[in-house]
Amino acid sequence: MEDIAKLCIHTMTTKPWPIEVAIEQYRAHGIPGITVWRQALDGHDPFEIGEKIRSAEMEIVSLCRGGFFPAVEKADRQTTITDNLKAIDEAAELGAPLIVLVPGAVPGQSLTKSRCQIQAGIEAILPKAIELDIKLGIEALHPMYADSRSAINSPHQANDMCDEIDSLNLGVIIDVYHLWWEPNLKVEIDRCGQAGRIFAFHICDWKTPTLDLLNDRGLMGDGCIDVPKIRKWVEHTGFEGHHEVEIFSHFFWQMDQTEYLKEIINAYLQYC
Ligand code: ZN
Repeated sequence: MEDIAKLCIHTMTTKPWPIEVAIEQYRAHGIPGITVWRQALDGHDPFEIGEKIRSAEMEIVSLCRGGFFPAVEKADRQTTITDNLKAIDEAAELGAPLIVLVPGAVPGQSLTKSRCQIQAGIEAILPKAIELDIKLGIEALHPMYADSRSAINSPHQANDMCDEIDSLNLGVIIDVYHLWWEPNLKVEIDRCGQAGRIFAFHICDWKTPTLDLLNDRGLMGDGCIDVPKIRKWVEHTGFEGHHEVEIFSHFFWQMDQTEYLKEIINAYLQYC
């Protein structure tokens, strides 16, 4: 039987819990890794939260999230860059080695233009990330979000942008929810691996039917994603990082979160 030595949970997965409760509950259930969402840090000192996590002997896997670079107005793009620079400070204070970047998109603006703005945004924040030793991971999102959340919709595009920008601090997030359908997924995962740029691996499942495009993700085993197959491809490249459970779900957020956490662990042990 697999153990949970590589299991990591995103604070957004158990959104109803304040960060202190999430830390305490994850620790009590032996979860070794945590990815902290910036919303969970609202009103907290990132360093103090980092200390709480370290004293619970858990690893901070990443800070979620930066990005959302495209905007019609230059002033708005600059505001986003400023916020991303702040996220890099927060990651450094927290002790997170990685920031997940959701690239962003603007309804009505061409995807090509948005991709240019994403690249410009990343290039604007990269020097600070390098200075503070924080990695940035581009997360390609499922094409259903191409209108408003991400103009980068395939691992191929994420890889191309990494090639273009060419920095050891810039890599890719492999999230099964966004990429499971991709016909060339293995090829692109291998390409990421050869470049040493798989920075994180996110897991959940795709339900049929999906009732809400954003907040109806499934627990591993609830849907059609072959998580073990994708995990094998990712690990075949030499990736030794965590398996991060990232589930947004009105259904699960209504549950008793301690019971839900137990279900997450069981699903991980059975279906990953
Ligand atoms: Zn993700």
